[in-house]
Amino acid sequence: MLFKDCLFCKIIKGQIPCCKVFENEKILAFKDINPVAKVHVLIIPKIHIENTGQRKHIDILGELLISAEDIAHKLNIFESGYRIIINRGKDAGQIIDHIHLHLIGGEPLNPIN
Ligand code: 5GP
Ligand code: ZN
Repeated sequence: MLFKDCLFCKIIKGQIPCCKVFENEKILAFKDINPVAKVHVLIIPKIHIENTGQRKHIDILGELLISAEDIAHKLNIFESGYRIIINRGKDAGQIIDHIHLHLIGGEPLNPIN
């Protein structure tokens, strides 16, 4: 299910362009428009899921994490290392309510403190 007012659902539908780095039947990954490091990719499910808290979505959450490994290999950052982030809610700075992993790397990252 895709939502008409969701930016990431629009990207999945091709209504908004993206720089795709990986796709399969369940997952889409594309470059973040405002990267915080040399590699900054967003990995999203191709169904609209708002948050991580629902056990019924456990399979797709696993797919996101496993895909991150595959994408890290594809982008040649698997050996050098990377960070995976999920922002949740206002204090974390979440702006898009369609669950997504940030895959960040390609250079040494600042400590998360
Ligand atoms: P959040 O803060 O919700 O975890 O992260 C949302 C991310 O989506 C941000 O890092 C932001 O730069 C990215 N973003 C917002 N709009 C677009 C867009 O239209 N295209 C792409 N590729 N990334 C976007
Ligand atoms: Zn959506």
